[in-house]
Amino acid sequence: RQWLVLKFPFTNQSGQQWLGGEALDITQRKQAEDELIKAKALAEQANRAKSEFLAHMSHEIRTPINAILGMTELALDTPLTPQQREYLEMAHASTDSLLTIINDILDFSKIEAGKLELASAEFDLRENVLDALRALSLRAAQKGLELACRVAPEAPHLVIGDPGRLRQILLNLMGNAVKFTKQGEIIVEVTVAPNPQAELDLVPDWKPVLLRFAVRDTGIGIPAEKHRQIFDPFTQADSSTTRKFGGTGLGLAISAQLVQLMGGRIWLESQTGEGSTFSFEISLQARRLPEREPAARSKMFSGLSVLLVDDHTATRAILTELFVSWGMNPVPAADSSGALSALWKAVALGAPFKLKVIDAQMPVVDGFALADQMQRSSDLCGSIVMILPAGARPADFERCEKIGVSAYLTKPVKESELAHAISKAVRNLSPGAPGMYPAARPLNLGRRGFRILLAEDNGINQRLMYEILTKYGNHVAVVENGNAAVQLWENGQFDLILMDVNMPEMDGLEATAAIRAREQSLQRKRTPIVAMTALAMKGDRERCLAAGMDFYLPKPIRTEQLIEAIQRIAADSGSPAAEISSMAASSPSLVPGTSLETFLSYLGGDRKLFRSMAKSFMDQYPRLIQRLDQAIQTKNAREIELAAHRLGGTLSYFDPENTSKLCARLEEMGRQGLADGAAACFEDLRHSLERLVASFEESLSEEP
Ligand code: ADP
Repeated sequence: RQWLVLKFPFTNQSGQQWLGGEALDITQRKQAEDELIKAKALAEQANRAKSEFLAHMSHEIRTPINAILGMTELALDTPLTPQQREYLEMAHASTDSLLTIINDILDFSKIEAGKLELASAEFDLRENVLDALRALSLRAAQKGLELACRVAPEAPHLVIGDPGRLRQILLNLMGNAVKFTKQGEIIVEVTVAPNPQAELDLVPDWKPVLLRFAVRDTGIGIPAEKHRQIFDPFTQADSSTTRKFGGTGLGLAISAQLVQLMGGRIWLESQTGEGSTFSFEISLQARRLPEREPAARSKMFSGLSVLLVDDHTATRAILTELFVSWGMNPVPAADSSGALSALWKAVALGAPFKLKVIDAQMPVVDGFALADQMQRSSDLCGSIVMILPAGARPADFERCEKIGVSAYLTKPVKESELAHAISKAVRNLSPGAPGMYPAARPLNLGRRGFRILLAEDNGINQRLMYEILTKYGNHVAVVENGNAAVQLWENGQFDLILMDVNMPEMDGLEATAAIRAREQSLQRKRTPIVAMTALAMKGDRERCLAAGMDFYLPKPIRTEQLIEAIQRIAADSGSPAAEISSMAASSPSLVPGTSLETFLSYLGGDRKLFRSMAKSFMDQYPRLIQRLDQAIQTKNAREIELAAHRLGGTLSYFDPENTSKLCARLEEMGRQGLADGAAACFEDLRHSLERLVASFEESLSEEP
């Protein structure tokens, strides 16, 4: 094919126009262009394939790494010579850092391959930021760094977004800040940025807010010429830092990509030797309705005068602002002597402080000594809230008890915990005294004792949920399938239904649809239905909501999350649908420790329940695994699917990362009729399960 361009008329160099035209042969150019386009498409395809491969590989590598970690942990629990212990500890530490790198690569390649999907869940902004802070507080404390967080009072409490990924970005930035700071402080600040789009959005109960997060450190800083490229993958400001501090150079690239996925921007201000501030802005949906909790709080604390003693300037400013936003009258003091003079002055004026909030860790005279001195004086004694450093030990708690402080908490200070501590402290104040205010109510709002219908087919999960729900004073009726759920709902009265999605006979989606239809025909009030499902797959959420479910709780379900969700839903039933979503589900790698520890934390640390759950698991799993084994031997794909689902559902609580994932894979194989390949996967499962069982046996034998 030949390509000609006809130019007519054309102008020559001296500007004269000619009537005649010319024909230009651009065939070669066109061919080159075509080839370029083809080559580009090929390169893009190859790049995507590479990213997919990387994502797949890093995912696969995680499984054996987790096994190495688990095995070294087990070995470390056995009698060892000091030398063996040292070798194993080194192996453990290296494996741990290997896991971090693999997790980074997994995230990065997932983003590159366009496979990363952001969750959309309702969460508490302050709690989420604080959780990230908490994760690093010990490391910061060990380096002697002050780690504090300010969330502007006008920032919303409840927002919709991806809490796990937001935490991941913050953890990355704060992790770097701690890593590259030798002395001084790391301050995280969340403010509301002006948002030109805010009023354009007409969703009734939610409005977009532009939130700005800043992580400020007093560390080594970054030279200006590196500011831009630092967000590129595999880049470090100074290659010598890698030798000194380690790292892959992926953290910032991932953070930048995540921020971009959230539709925001990230930037950096820094000067060598002075420190760095990494900031990012993202827009999240915030509840438009007035929020009850803070309102209740400011009513309760309003007018209360409080002496605040903290040597750290930033923390003092943050807490002062917080107290003012709660309607209190704070008087800040930077050290013990300042505190004492403020106290005596108040006594002389006849209006002594009713409450003192004291930082335990201060130079010269520490908070304990100061509190002790106050408590010994009849003029100065009273309610004290002690703020302990991160990583406080039982000895510190005992000291608090001995001195007789009313409440204590650890840094970094969580607003809700501080409020709780203050309400506990002021509850002791005698009525009628000056500065009195209404009796404190527990801050986590909502009444207890809801009537709950629980539809769940898996025996262990049923038991677990039942125990947790009743422990918190709820009344629970349990059914095993959708049919029974619909029937019981019709004959009973429930505040809430917790519905497993995958159940025999009639699944959760059908049952929900049936209930919604009956509600219409019977003209009954809408009962909130919460979907519970282990499948965190694309489209799951939509299917649940489309079936008429109002909320969505991904399994494995944690105690606090469940209770919080129930209180929130049942307390204002009839309000618009929102989602409660697991933070752990979006970033399982952030949960430290073994899977059994994680499980214990899901149970809110209830060891008795843990033991009893572990026992029933030990009773049940041989049958479940035998059923699966038989299905695989007879190559019955449907039965493989069912048996793997059953076992996986049980395991999702105990071991969400390992064995339950293998079950999910087997279940998928069964669904796709791939009975032949299942045997190999089953072997892996059997091995992992043996280890899990061994650790169960161990933990059961350890405790009384
Ligand atoms: P790494 O895993 O190497 O820390 P990052 O992408 O998180 O990768 O960071 C890239 C580089 O940016 C770091 O190696 C360091 O040189 C520089 N950097 C990041 N954060 C800071 C900070 N707070 N202070 C100084 N340098 C920083």
